[in-house]
Amino acid sequence: MDLLNSLGSDGAQPGPQTPECSRKGCRSEAIWQVLWNNPKIHTPERRKIWLACDEHRPWLQDYLTQRMFWRSTERLEREDSQDSGAEPAS
Ligand SMILES: [Zn+2]
Repeated sequence: MDLLNSLGSDGAQPGPQTPECSRKGCRSEAIWQVLWNNPKIHTPERRKIWLACDEHRPWLQDYLTQRMFWRSTERLEREDSQDSGAEPAS
């Protein structure tokens, strides 16, 4: 399965300000993270993350669900939208 290999990067890509959808050819801003696990190659607690735009979230989720890989889908939190948390308020 080339798709799994090409999309299966570890976690969210570091660096770029705008996270992009993992769907091949899609450059839309990702607002979802789809968490999955392949029991054949990953330990049960391991989570791989695909980023998804609103349009492709169902597609990626469905793709993983059919293979029994899908675990959960969570809203991707943008760090630049919340400026607190670096220093605990005392
Ligand atoms: Zn997309």
